[in-house]
Amino acid sequence: MSTYKYKRVLLKISGEALMGDQDYGIDTDTVKRIAGEVAAANDKGLQIALVIGAGNIFRGLSAQATGIERSTADYMGMLATVMNALAMQSALEQMGVDTRVQSAIPMQTVCESYIRRKAVRHMEKGRVVIFAAGTGNPYFTTDTAAALRAAEMDCDALLKGTQVDGVYDSDPKTNPDAKRYETLSYHKVLTDDLKVMDASAVTLMRENDIPIIVFSIHELGGLDAVMAGEGTSTQIK
Ligand code: UDP
Repeated sequence: MSTYKYKRVLLKISGEALMGDQDYGIDTDTVKRIAGEVAAANDKGLQIALVIGAGNIFRGLSAQATGIERSTADYMGMLATVMNALAMQSALEQMGVDTRVQSAIPMQTVCESYIRRKAVRHMEKGRVVIFAAGTGNPYFTTDTAAALRAAEMDCDALLKGTQVDGVYDSDPKTNPDAKRYETLSYHKVLTDDLKVMDASAVTLMRENDIPIIVFSIHELGGLDAVMAGEGTSTQIK
């Protein structure tokens, strides 16, 4: 444990990370693999909270373009995050990890409502907490929800698990010469408008001096390595 650099983290995963090779929805094998990463870290006594997006199911902005009123579309997006959270809870509990889902929109027959002190207590008891329904407000994203909860939970870092192993100066999928940044300042991310996280999420982390670490969620052992302060990633601080 003492070898770990970060002992309490908020891990943000986009909804798309749960799709696997599918175009839509939840790929159970992919959920299990990511749950395995979280379970391994939890087993070592590390405290992990999760925020999962919903891009694999429903996005407010895209739905607005089809004619659904924006706030309503956003509420639909928030509800979709609850589905992802429940899928992840199920996978984690099948691995023997006590997991609680707390929703920012109360739905007491499905999961707990968000109560900060209770969430902290869960984490202290070794349970994984999944924060669902984003911030509970339309016009926000799950990136901002992740930053908000990271600050509220007094996390050592906000980990952003993405499809690639950090932030690059151009798209590594199309440019073989793309270079990965080892570190970046919050300021550069904001002024260069690097599409790492929403500006509001980055600003919140800067104000609270919480580093953002971007790494690949698909790398086996990647979460453990990042929490140990090792592995391939980009640190924003
Ligand atoms: N959303 C929202 N408020 C929040 C968080 C999310 O309205 O605090 C809605 C919004 O419509 C968004 C959708 O939920 O498009 C899914 O979240 P997001 O796009 O952040 O998911 P990701 O891209 O991480 O999969």
